[in-house]
Amino acid sequence: MENIDWNNLSFGYIKTDYNIRCYYKNGLWGDLEVSDSEYFNMHIAATAIHYGQESFEGLKAFRGKDGKIRIFRMDENAQRMQDSAEGTLMVQFPKEKFMEAVVKVIKLNEKFVPPYESKASLYIRPVLFGSGAEVGVKPAKEYMFILFVTPVGPYFKGGFQTTPFLIMREFDRSAPLGMGKYKVGGNYAASLIAGKKAHDMGYSNIFYLDAKEKKYIDECGAANFFGIKNNTYITPKSASILPSITNKSLMVLAKEMGMKVEQRLVPVEELETFEEAGACGTAAVISPIQRIDDYDEKKSYVFSKDGKPGPISKKLYDKLCGIQYGDEPDNHGWVTVI
Ligand SMILES: *Cc1c(COP(=O)(O)O)cnc(C)c1O
Repeated sequence: MENIDWNNLSFGYIKTDYNIRCYYKNGLWGDLEVSDSEYFNMHIAATAIHYGQESFEGLKAFRGKDGKIRIFRMDENAQRMQDSAEGTLMVQFPKEKFMEAVVKVIKLNEKFVPPYESKASLYIRPVLFGSGAEVGVKPAKEYMFILFVTPVGPYFKGGFQTTPFLIMREFDRSAPLGMGKYKVGGNYAASLIAGKKAHDMGYSNIFYLDAKEKKYIDECGAANFFGIKNNTYITPKSASILPSITNKSLMVLAKEMGMKVEQRLVPVEELETFEEAGACGTAAVISPIQRIDDYDEKKSYVFSKDGKPGPISKKLYDKLCGIQYGDEPDNHGWVTVI
């Protein structure tokens, strides 16, 4: 712990002191249990490992200038985990208990919350999964909720930067009536090949089009997409997109800045007309897009000629980060101070 170099953290796993577990057995959730072990025992026939009955969440806690720790919109993550549970026939983890667990795990690992100056944060990873034994394809009768934290560096090592993205029609992320709207492990196993291919070709990530018609923008990697034009924030509406809490927050902030907000189908060709474009999610808040290359159509949509992020992306990014670190007022009750 004494050896953590706060200014050079990556987005990787670092051991902290404690994690939390909670077990659902005989129709009841037990008490939150604190552990200092990084391991747990699991039944060899648990539904999570052979049928992927699992969901996860990702949120962050930030240390402000005032030394206080702020958690961003954890009620939204608690709700989304309930939605994912519904989508995979898991028993829901109570929202109050989820939030209690998040506060508890942060307090237990307080010394791992990076200092304000480092621009790093504490990443919080809740996981819910079927731990009960089944052999046929059916939901487990027992569940486990686990929660660990790990300090992570700022997404942009050299400051807020643009990167190139790639459209490839060879891969779908999720089917129109499938599981894309849930944060479930299987979606991410399914995205590894496409992500690797894009990375190997020098792109920061892959862009998915809607699986049915391949006409509309869906998501980019594990992030939502937005484009900016004519003082309007435009983000795709689709049943196969994971509803990003960052995107939801940016839509509110864009409105407050006097912009119009549209959530609708976004045809690929419309990329031509955007003045700025970005990917958004907890990890980076906003990852501004330098250009999107359409591999199949041999086309390139450029949003930043000099590689710098656009002014509106920058403004939205600064505003949201400001709220998270406590530099800007929290007018929406998004932040829990501990
Ligand atoms: C987690 C995730 C996002 C981002 O959601 P946030 O709540 O903003 O972190 C976007 N797309 C996918 C596929 C995700 O898994």
